[in-house]
Amino acid sequence: MTTVRCRIAPSPSGFLHIGTAKIALFNWLYARKTGGKFVLRLEDTDAERTEEEFVQAMCAGFKWLGIEWDEGPEFGDEPERGPFAPYRQSERKALHQEACRKLLASGHAYRCYCGKEELEAEKEQARAEGRNPHYSRKCRDLTPEQIAAKGDAPFAVRFRVPEGFTEVHDVVQGVVRMENTQIDDFVIQKSNGDPIFHLAVVVDDGEMQITHVIRGDDHLTNAAKHVLLFNGLGYALPVFAHLPMVLDESGKKYSKRLHGANVLDWRDDGYLPEALINYVALLGWTPEEEGRELFTLTELIAAFDPRRWGKSAARFDLKKLQWLNGQHIRNLSLEALLERLLPRLRQAGCNVDSRPTEWLLKMTALCREKLTTLNDIVEVAGFFFSESAVYDEKGVKKQWGAPESLTYLTVMSELLWNATSWEVGPLHQLFEDKAAELGISIGKLMPSLRLALTGKTGGPDLFAALVLLGRDSCLRRIENAKIHIQSIRENIA
Ligand code: GLU
Repeated sequence: MTTVRCRIAPSPSGFLHIGTAKIALFNWLYARKTGGKFVLRLEDTDAERTEEEFVQAMCAGFKWLGIEWDEGPEFGDEPERGPFAPYRQSERKALHQEACRKLLASGHAYRCYCGKEELEAEKEQARAEGRNPHYSRKCRDLTPEQIAAKGDAPFAVRFRVPEGFTEVHDVVQGVVRMENTQIDDFVIQKSNGDPIFHLAVVVDDGEMQITHVIRGDDHLTNAAKHVLLFNGLGYALPVFAHLPMVLDESGKKYSKRLHGANVLDWRDDGYLPEALINYVALLGWTPEEEGRELFTLTELIAAFDPRRWGKSAARFDLKKLQWLNGQHIRNLSLEALLERLLPRLRQAGCNVDSRPTEWLLKMTALCREKLTTLNDIVEVAGFFFSESAVYDEKGVKKQWGAPESLTYLTVMSELLWNATSWEVGPLHQLFEDKAAELGISIGKLMPSLRLALTGKTGGPDLFAALVLLGRDSCLRRIENAKIHIQSIRENIA
């Protein structure tokens, strides 16, 4: 059996777009599932649009997602690797030109001496007559003598499209049949010797022994030309799969200008690559297990099945991605999660490095239920690292407006001062007992204490937070809160 060889062939003219990431992922998952190879080939022939910075940004996107290529160009300090180097299309021009010569020699292609103006005029006339512009095939049957008479006049090379029809057998789209009369004798090499995309892509796929061409359905209309070229050059036809695009939340093509179009935006927003991969896989693949959405990478590789790839474009659904992200966050070991949270906390100015690892792990365990993204940690756990007396305004009105709130805070402060055991269970019991003694429910005390200790009206389990804050910090925070309440009252009075 031949080994599966898939590829992603991006044109590095910008960052890694979410749509390209989807195509790469489908290729990569399929290669991983079948024990095949995943190739990265940069289609960088458009020198005007290609910049090294984009190449790097695109590769960085793949790396962040964990889409590792088995063969591909150099990146950072990784050298180019693979038996079919080079993996940059711009360095493969000689191969494309060689293939062009072969097609000329075998009669699958011919020299076209028509000038730009002449072709334009033909098109113009067709338009004026309400016809589809087609090349007149003027140069298709030039005799050797006529060609010799042209001397060294520049010529483009056109593919000689045969009669009949061409079929693309597509895993996703089914059999797509095209009458060859619909296909112009297309140019495969310009008069300056530059190969045209169609030729380059087929030669590269053929030479790299690509078995599966899985790409965006914007290339479906090119596929018939590619089939003709594969056949003309005598390469084995790959399996085709043209996948639908990714749409934004409003149902339009995911514009480059939208936040989130760049895969690395999600990294910066605190999403895990595991979650994004899981999410993007669902944009065009329906798992066999009905309704199932959550997959680890290993599960995804096992369940991924091209027979369940969909034809219709999927709309981006932020809510679903957020949900998956939360799930993947909770799937991480505490150590792994902490590792990913630390840079975010440091960046927000939280002095994590003064805390023992054991403390940090407990803090992680306490807060992880509250996280949708990694960035949320700053909002959820920031209070641990700051005693500044900044309080939620609505909370202040609600919790500290009543006259007895000061008394309650004093009572709670004394309770904490005298507590003999600094653990969740006993502390909880102390508060229960005190509330009963005061003839109120514990629910009357806790929100006020939470506001004093954290500045917020919601957050992780308060008794667990108390334990982690430590007695001294709790007492100082309550004192700060009391001063704050007093100052508000004085201002009002
Ligand atoms: N370079 C093409 C693109 O970025 C991909 C061509 C292909 O996959 O065949 O759309």
